[in-house]
Amino acid sequence: MFRRWWFVRLLRNAEPERRRPRRRLSKEQQELVLREWEVLRDRLAEFAAERLAAVGDVFRAAELRLPPEEATARRDYLWALEAYEAAGKLLDEAVDLPDLTAAVVLAERAVERLAAAHALHAGHRSAPQVVRCFYNPLHAPVPHVPARSAKKTRQRPRVGAREAAADRRPACPACRNAILAGQLPDVLPALLPAGAAGRRSPRVLVPYYTVPQQWSPWSATACGAYDDEVPAMVLRGDHRRRAPRPGR
Ligand SMILES: [Zn+2]
Repeated sequence: MFRRWWFVRLLRNAEPERRRPRRRLSKEQQELVLREWEVLRDRLAEFAAERLAAVGDVFRAAELRLPPEEATARRDYLWALEAYEAAGKLLDEAVDLPDLTAAVVLAERAVERLAAAHALHAGHRSAPQVVRCFYNPLHAPVPHVPARSAKKTRQRPRVGAREAAADRRPACPACRNAILAGQLPDVLPALLPAGAAGRRSPRVLVPYYTVPQQWSPWSATACGAYDDEVPAMVLRGDHRRRAPRPGR
């Protein structure tokens, strides 16, 4: 999903050649942006609903009853239940693409934490945590690097600015390769409402992580991928208070 940086392409197609790019989008261009955003939102909503239904089946089939002495497994299990509940709330209340992405991310993290609780209960070590792509947390996971190789990588001298840029954020192989090739990674977009980027600014699509943190919790947490406090925040309703709603 979202295998292309479609917003840049859209703008590029809309700009007349050999003229300086216009700073403001025409009404038609804004309508195009909004229409494509709606298509993406509907597709992602469908995908998220399917994922959450599948995760619900997993939870029903893998219910655990843990005694109090298994404190770590209980903590993982309770977090998993909370994350799944938060995912459902996000799906119900979603306004923009990052809300839906966060619903999928939390549901998938819930399954991972459920598996960790089961592993601990069975006396096994849990698998290493999945690290998600910062540029679009729905991408393939970031390849796991064993601790020893990670140390070697850190000690290696940098070969250039692109490699430094590629190492700045956790990136899936495709995004990392794009950055190394000097291209834009395939970023998850978010819709900024009219007026959000300055007086009389149009509705625009921007990389989700550039939305100011006072409007969206998703830029700082990579749609819930990097922060264990997110399920509790969503269940309290704190994720919604500060976000402006994209207007029509
Ligand atoms: Zn990626």
